[in-house]
Amino acid sequence: MTERISKQSGYVFIGRQLAHVLIAERALGKKLPKGSCVHHVNEIKSDNTNSNLVICENTAYHRLLHYRTKAYDITGNADFVQCVYCKTWSDPTHPEIVFYEYGIKSTKRSTFHRGCVRTAKRAASKKRYRELLTTGRCGRCGKDRQPGGTNTTCRPCVLFLEAKRATKKARREANV
Ligand SMILES: [Zn+2]
Ligand SMILES: [Zn+2]
Ligand SMILES: [Zn+2]
Repeated sequence: MTERISKQSGYVFIGRQLAHVLIAERALGKKLPKGSCVHHVNEIKSDNTNSNLVICENTAYHRLLHYRTKAYDITGNADFVQCVYCKTWSDPTHPEIVFYEYGIKSTKRSTFHRGCVRTAKRAASKKRYRELLTTGRCGRCGKDRQPGGTNTTCRPCVLFLEAKRATKKARREANV
């Protein structure tokens, strides 16, 4: 069988099959389990020496390997994590670093500095406030509101929110 490197993907093909998959399967002695994939340690996709190949049981683990490689290349420490907001890499034990998991069913997770989230949220809400002021729409119900002023809610919404606050307060006092 002839080997050729795909110009598009950078992978080596033997016939119609991926060479690194064939090599990994030969080492494993059976077909790769479903959902698994093969990682190139030095990230050179055409280097299929045995020591350069790692079988990953799923894409999440594969992604993690690339993440750790990137961390090592940039910081010299594979354990370092990158803040999704300011893009800088930090020690995972840094007191400002938060690991956020998107629920138990999701493998998606993100890492950021506490302060960076605060800054991003503040900037987003400021932007929204400025937009609402200029568009003349109510920030609560989306209907047109009387332009001008520093309030971003329409008159009916202002009244509604005031009433809601009053009810809450009355309930709290009744409970005491
Ligand atoms: Zn890989
Ligand atoms: Zn940050
Ligand atoms: Zn409104």
